[in-house]
Amino acid sequence: MVSKDVIFDEVRRNGREWIIRGGRVRSRSRPSTWHNVEVRIRRLRNSEVAIVGRCDCEAFTKGHMVCWHMLHLTNVFIRNRRKLVNGLGISVN
Ligand SMILES: [Zn+2]
Repeated sequence: MVSKDVIFDEVRRNGREWIIRGGRVRSRSRPSTWHNVEVRIRRLRNSEVAIVGRCDCEAFTKGHMVCWHMLHLTNVFIRNRRKLVNGLGISVN
């Protein structure tokens, strides 16, 4: 476990893109609630990073916002990438 607030289930790599499915991120306002989050993180050639994803929270489903859960999952993943890749038995294409 790399974070009290984020659970990783499936992480795959496809070329320059990381695909994270079945992620769970704890709600900040309601700590007993976890949101289901999926993100794809791609490093572009101009050194920008593209994040595409979805979340089941209200900010995303009703407000169409890139929500804190997607960003938090992404940040925790990037910070702990080596540990996660070794620990989860991730498939790399
Ligand atoms: Zn969210």
